[in-house]
Amino acid sequence: MARRATLTRMAELPPPTLRLRLDAEALASNWRALDAMSGRAAAGAAVKADAYGLGVGNVMPVLRDAGAKDFFVAHWSEVPEVATHIPASQLSVLHGPIHSDDADYARQAGVRPVINSIEQAALWLKSGGGPCDLMIDTGINRLGIAMRQIHDATLAGLEVVTLMSHLASADEDSPLNAEQLARFKAAAAAIPAQRLSLANSAGIALGSDYAFDVTRPGLALYGGVPRAEMAGTIRQVAWPQAAIIQRRKLQAGDSVGYNATFTASEPMAAGVISLGYADGYLRCWSGKGALQSGEALLPLLGKVSMDMVVVDLSQAPHLREGDWVDVPYDLPASSRTSGLSQYELLTGLGKRFRR
Ligand SMILES: *Cc1c(COP(=O)(O)O)cnc(C)c1O
Repeated sequence: MARRATLTRMAELPPPTLRLRLDAEALASNWRALDAMSGRAAAGAAVKADAYGLGVGNVMPVLRDAGAKDFFVAHWSEVPEVATHIPASQLSVLHGPIHSDDADYARQAGVRPVINSIEQAALWLKSGGGPCDLMIDTGINRLGIAMRQIHDATLAGLEVVTLMSHLASADEDSPLNAEQLARFKAAAAAIPAQRLSLANSAGIALGSDYAFDVTRPGLALYGGVPRAEMAGTIRQVAWPQAAIIQRRKLQAGDSVGYNATFTASEPMAAGVISLGYADGYLRCWSGKGALQSGEALLPLLGKVSMDMVVVDLSQAPHLREGDWVDVPYDLPASSRTSGLSQYELLTGLGKRFRR
């Protein structure tokens, strides 16, 4: 037993069969574009959920070097990795302190909690207070202080660095955008703060009225296009590839995969690809998706399995086991085809991709 464990540890892993290329130049270019679109406001960066699935370790140095100075995560558990790349004072934790342990941790780590309720404000003050951010709910009814609470005496004790709110429908031309803007201005008039922040990626495209001092793009940094105004400016950042792990010849009448949903009508070459729903390539791609090799399209045959898909190799008969194929990941197009949101497409990319 002991000997086997030692060998397993020492043996060098063979190359992976899934890889995710991050176009660092496109990522930096997207941040600069969003910073420019933010006008006089500084663009920050939402790096929650492992930088939307692309890997904090890869993304943080690029955003930092591009000039981002305000970073946002959701969970306390996300702090240690992100904080290895930047001064802790540049990091805000959106979920806020719900236990005194959270407040103690924020103070020790030097990161700012985003206070989301009167209870959290009291908790933060009781634990010693200090610089924090404050979230106002202006209409999404998720996290944040309600508008009827903005004059609460507890809030007056806070040392608010960034007063923020979050838009519910910035990716649409909804009257809710202007309503939230007006409420946010009213909150800003009532609560002293060093800086104001309202816009996420889509909010940046709503114009300078929405930019204030700091913007908080996430999706568009990573290649998502939440509004038409950003098409042509935002570049694809995530480029997944998967390897062929078997080639096979189908005969007329052979069916493929679970529940035999595809049956070959003539002899054809098929490739089994090391990519499945456990990797974030979900069942909804079955019957719609196609992988790619250069210009050649490799349509999916049958259902997506946990670890595999089978594709038609008719357009690329030269491909062999071990060859890489591209997983098309232009986010707006992939979203239309799959029915998944651009956010889900990014954050679903699994652990088995070498990033
Ligand atoms: C996730 C998040 C963002 C980033 O939103 P995108 O739509 O990805 O740009 C900004 N602000 C808050 C509060 C968030 O939770």
